[in-house]
Amino acid sequence: MSHITIIKAAAVDLPKEPFNGRHMIDGVWLASSDGATFERKSPSHGMVVSVSAKGGALEVDAAVAAARRAFDAGGWKHTSGKERAQVLHRVAGLIAGNIERIALLETLESGKPIYQARAEIEGAVDLWRYAAALARTLHGDSHNALGSDMLGMILKEPVGVVSIITPWNFPFLIVSQKLPFALAAGCTAVVKPSELTPSTTVILGEFLQEAGFPEGVVNIVLGYGDPVGAAMSTHADVDMVTFTGSTAVGKHIVAATSGTLKKVSLELGGKNPQVIFPDADLDQAADAIVFGVYFNAGECCNSGSRIIVHEDVVEALTEKVVALSKKVPFGDPLDPRTQVGAIISDAHNRKIDGYVNAAKDAGADILLGGKALDIDGLPGKFYMPTIVSNLSADMAIAREEVFGPVLSVLRFKDFDEAVTLANATSYGLSAGVWSENVHTCLAFAREVQAGTVWTNTWMDGYSEMPFGGVKESGLGRELGRYGLEEFLEVKSVLMRVGKTRVPWVAK
Ligand code: NAP
Ligand code: MG
Repeated sequence: MSHITIIKAAAVDLPKEPFNGRHMIDGVWLASSDGATFERKSPSHGMVVSVSAKGGALEVDAAVAAARRAFDAGGWKHTSGKERAQVLHRVAGLIAGNIERIALLETLESGKPIYQARAEIEGAVDLWRYAAALARTLHGDSHNALGSDMLGMILKEPVGVVSIITPWNFPFLIVSQKLPFALAAGCTAVVKPSELTPSTTVILGEFLQEAGFPEGVVNIVLGYGDPVGAAMSTHADVDMVTFTGSTAVGKHIVAATSGTLKKVSLELGGKNPQVIFPDADLDQAADAIVFGVYFNAGECCNSGSRIIVHEDVVEALTEKVVALSKKVPFGDPLDPRTQVGAIISDAHNRKIDGYVNAAKDAGADILLGGKALDIDGLPGKFYMPTIVSNLSADMAIAREEVFGPVLSVLRFKDFDEAVTLANATSYGLSAGVWSENVHTCLAFAREVQAGTVWTNTWMDGYSEMPFGGVKESGLGRELGRYGLEEFLEVKSVLMRVGKTRVPWVAK
């Protein structure tokens, strides 16, 4: 295995005690009513990182009731934008002052590299600050040209009680893509983190209290998708569900919410293509491809898991990608040099391996990796950087979300074939194009079915830029002004000016 770059176990002191997570309901930290708990073992280090209260329908009922009371009583929804912004800024400051504490727990629960966890927490600080700016500038609209006797006002009002359900791949970042925007809009919330990564959301709860959020405005319930997430999606007193995770559970949530017609916002999976034209800067493209596929060990909705390369440059580019892949440091996530850490669970590691083996059996070539990886001194589960080529577009590995460090290489002859291949999936989250010709880039950006398109770059994101998917990648948008709009309802107010109304009933 000397042909890839491995970082062995680092000499780092691990926490002596597991983190104890409890529910935060109506401003009080609570164990479960039946005393049930669940453990999270580190996917890299094997030790028990956290012991959390395991919630059920009772906890969800209490949390939703608290959020409902906090919303209906009007305390939060009637605060001024200025006050909301001040509290959101206080949360941002508390996060910024505790990056190391959050990053260590995030890394131990998720397996992601510590350098990356730190960067994500810093990104979260920016999201809380950006949402504060949105709170301050939130406004509706008016129509002053409906006639001299009529004035139309469009009020933006908070949707109400929002259920926020988050996954394990970016626990702190994703809750920060949703919660501050909901709060900026004036909503109240019940939050459920993934059972695999609950602890940093609990720390966020501490900060929310310290920042001065009134009781019940944000509630956190820990536990499993079923029953906790399921109850949060069907509860009659919840007005909206915002979810990030798998497409399968996303569809389930749409069905579950239909009984009460809640608003639903979904960030789901992707099978994101990068198309490389023959005039592209292949060195720039190769580096972005390697980043796109190994970032977060490929456990990323935005993973650049497919490249579609012009036949004239496919050999040259693939060679560069294989060479660069060997230099990416895989290993102990607590070592600051590590760029790719552990896989979230044994079951997920086997799922990744299943995709690779099925492709191999169907005749694909494994150019690099292709199996699980052991790291000296660590009990956890890792997967090798893996590049698969000579495959057809209908193979599962080329169409489905592998969610691992596995790159599929496809080839094309002309622009139309490239677009057809790029769109040949049920997903539509993001896509990329590499060409030195701006016309090629723009034509591709228009034709590809995706919520985000990168030209000559990959996976750049900003708090200002909306993010989300088309097709089975989701509904709605996060971030930017659109991210705030998701949590707002529109109310039209029509006001007659003067006693000018013509009677309907004849005198
Ligand atoms: P998931 O099952 O979709 O879970 C995401 C969140 O939804 C978790 O908090 C989960 O709870 C909860 N949940 C599960 N069943 C639910 C239900 N019936 N009603 C409401 N909430 C429910 O994702 P996962 O298990 O974490 O990962 C499975 C696969 O999803 C991955 O292999 C990957 O392909 C995909 N995924 C995609 C993204 C993305 O960003 N698009 C993120 C993560 C995963 P639990 O704590 O019990 O899981
Ligand atoms: Mg799950």
